[in-house]
Amino acid sequence: MLNIETFKSEVVIESPGRINLIGEHIDYNGGFVLPAAVDKKIRLRLRKNNSSSCTIYSSNFKSSFTIVLDDLVRKEVEWQNYIIGVLFHINVLKPNTIEGFDCIIESNLPLGSGISSSAALECGIAKGVNDLFNLGLSDIEIIKLSRDAEHTFVGTKCGIMDQFAVVKGKKEHLILLNCETLDYELIKADFRDYKIVLLNTNVSHSLASSEYNVRRDECDTALTAIQKKYPNFQFLTEVPVKIMKEFKAILPEKIYNRALYVTQENKRTIKAVKSLKKNNIEKFGSYLYKSHYGLQHLYEVSCTELDFLVNLTRDLDYVIGSRMMGGGFGGCTINLVHKDKAEDLITLASASYEEKFNIQLSAIQTTISDGVKQL
Ligand code: ADP
Ligand code: MG
Repeated sequence: MLNIETFKSEVVIESPGRINLIGEHIDYNGGFVLPAAVDKKIRLRLRKNNSSSCTIYSSNFKSSFTIVLDDLVRKEVEWQNYIIGVLFHINVLKPNTIEGFDCIIESNLPLGSGISSSAALECGIAKGVNDLFNLGLSDIEIIKLSRDAEHTFVGTKCGIMDQFAVVKGKKEHLILLNCETLDYELIKADFRDYKIVLLNTNVSHSLASSEYNVRRDECDTALTAIQKKYPNFQFLTEVPVKIMKEFKAILPEKIYNRALYVTQENKRTIKAVKSLKKNNIEKFGSYLYKSHYGLQHLYEVSCTELDFLVNLTRDLDYVIGSRMMGGGFGGCTINLVHKDKAEDLITLASASYEEKFNIQLSAIQTTISDGVKQL
């Protein structure tokens, strides 16, 4: 067992969670997303241990495990696989360069709440091992191998947005990322008198991980059907709404709705960014509500608790945008709230939510920060 108090770190890494303003479930469909890294973080402390095994302690789980470096295989305990997966994929890129190390993980990021503690963990461990052993991995290598770890060791076929935001985040900036080319533009996160408040439902329905992969398959089904007539489209986000509508009578209703959401949401993201650049923050906020509508009714990844929190804001003139954030089926809503009224929203939402569901929500007021870094 590692001793948190006396542990002598050689490398200390801070790895942030991320928010996403708009462009949900779009990364794996090759479109535009608008994430940012936040000031809630995972802190990883590492030191070499001159052996051929690694011992890793998570203070969130109050448990540790030891893994031998020449036997990097999946384990039964889910959280361990995020780490083992990263080590495995580093070893693919840079064979036999990792030596034994110990690592202590502490975090003030809520787990499983759509703020991407998973990517923060993956990219944090990748950056930590990279810096401890001077592996010379590039940012893009860290981003991609972290995503690959989640695919192969955890089994969630996530897109690239979370890892990209965790690594490339910049204080006070949003990242407009093209998930097909990975070109990106940093946009000043200026919301005028408004600020971001996350309301965590504190529920995480079991559908979250299975339905994620189902949505990916449904999008593939839609794209394959569209490609029979239009072979040049490589991603659903490339299909114009007009062409998409030709398939309303052809695709099963559910599959059509998924595809329609994707193409609409991608367009919305581009329009939302235009509004933001014009300083029209009210318009920007209205796209968040539209995004939620699509996620609730067409993509069907919301849940009663999330819908309740979004609906509650509709009558409040000091909230100009609200939607579910992340994979769905629980986790947080993201809200654009007048800066003088954030506490009012939190008080109101907490009381109404508890009365309705008998669950306490947690409110998270975040600021936009830098991506993963060594302290
Ligand atoms: P999200 O990424 O939105 O937080 P996920 O379900 O994708 O939700 O990832 C959450 C999982 O990531 C946790 O259940 C756990 O397995 C792992 N994880 C995140 N933070 C930590 C941590 N501090 N220690 C150990 N495992 C963690
Ligand atoms: Mg995740």
